[in-house]
Amino acid sequence: MKSVKMKAVKLTATVAFAAIAFAPAAFAQGKGVERLYILECGQGHAGDMSRWTPGQNVNVPMDMVDDCFLIKHAQGYMLWDTGVSDSIGPDVPPGNPAGITWRRPKTLAAQLAELGVKPDDIKYVAVSHTHPDHVGNVELVPKSMLLVQKAEYEWPDAKGGPRFAPEHPVTKLEGDRDVFGDGSVTIISTPGHTPGHQSLLVKLPKTGGLLLSGDAVHFKANWDARVVPGFNFDKEKTATSMARMADIMAKDHAQLWINHDKPQRETQKLSPAFYE
Ligand SMILES: [Zn+2]
Repeated sequence: MKSVKMKAVKLTATVAFAAIAFAPAAFAQGKGVERLYILECGQGHAGDMSRWTPGQNVNVPMDMVDDCFLIKHAQGYMLWDTGVSDSIGPDVPPGNPAGITWRRPKTLAAQLAELGVKPDDIKYVAVSHTHPDHVGNVELVPKSMLLVQKAEYEWPDAKGGPRFAPEHPVTKLEGDRDVFGDGSVTIISTPGHTPGHQSLLVKLPKTGGLLLSGDAVHFKANWDARVVPGFNFDKEKTATSMARMADIMAKDHAQLWINHDKPQRETQKLSPAFYE
């Protein structure tokens, strides 16, 4: 009896040793995020900045950018936000002078093609929220698993209809989600701008942690002063989400990349250049 038990103990120890010995080798073979590309997904001009800064900058015009991000992970590609619809084209007549006029000098489809990435290669598509400057091209990737908060998915649009094609494969989230199961890409629930708004924490091997804001905050000035735009769905939840983002950034030493902030984007490199 004694010898059998001894043998079992020895075997367990061997298995444990093997697991430890193999873990670093597997990591070196390329687990986690390999590359992150910034794709240009719209150029906007707004006639009245005070929409985002209530009581300040009344009738001050401003330019903004709109980004999408393609993440190349060892397990597959993920697209974060899809921008303004490719179909609007580069020349759009001015609309409401106080609203935003969007142009699309480069399509998302063309930028993916330039990288040699086919829509069916994209395993996941996640959107920060369902405003038109973020969901314009979700159906460019009809087979990609859509990762969206349940609260956002079920939020009726202005006409009371659904915000996504009902046949699009979807995983409805209720909170944060570790997308690839290794902690490298995490959807962070940041409600407030819309009912089910979400942001994305990406951990790159060289660049380090990045928190992609979505529209949890629109511009650096808003972030610095924690200003909540007048049109947000829930002001209190927006403030809570911003506080949570600051905590996550501190804990994970992450930079904040603010989706619509043009001055910040001018410091960044666009696809086909990439971050790793
Ligand atoms: Zn937006």
